[in-house]
Amino acid sequence: MSRIPRLAIVAHDGKKADLVAFATFNRDRLAEFQLIATSSTGKLLKEKVGLEVEYVESGPLGGDVQIASRVVEGEIDGVIFMVDPLYRHPHEPDIQTLLRICNVCNVPLATNSATADALIGSPLLTELRAAS
Ligand code: PGA
Repeated sequence: MSRIPRLAIVAHDGKKADLVAFATFNRDRLAEFQLIATSSTGKLLKEKVGLEVEYVESGPLGGDVQIASRVVEGEIDGVIFMVDPLYRHPHEPDIQTLLRICNVCNVPLATNSATADALIGSPLLTELRAAS
């Protein structure tokens, strides 16, 4: 592998408790990645789970778009985006941008904790990086 694989993580407020539970359970696996997260999500990963995280802006302030840009640049190997489908978000266009760009770029994308569990458990998440 040419570099440490990079995983972007975002969780809406209604899903932050799920994200902390997921990250606590999968802490050792997540530590294999360079983690990039929107700011509130990243701070939780650092303070509650003890993971090293690079922060971008908070989602409502453009963080989702910053992550989308890094996906376009080929810098992100997977995205865990725990979306709250029961709440209206002021940055809905940014959310759709990140989801769309992951599909445009064929980057693995998990939008709920069940899929995040499947994704993080897959060796493909790191092997795809090694093959590229
Ligand atoms: P946050 O952003 O991690 O800064 O809360 C996430 C979001 O709401 O998109």
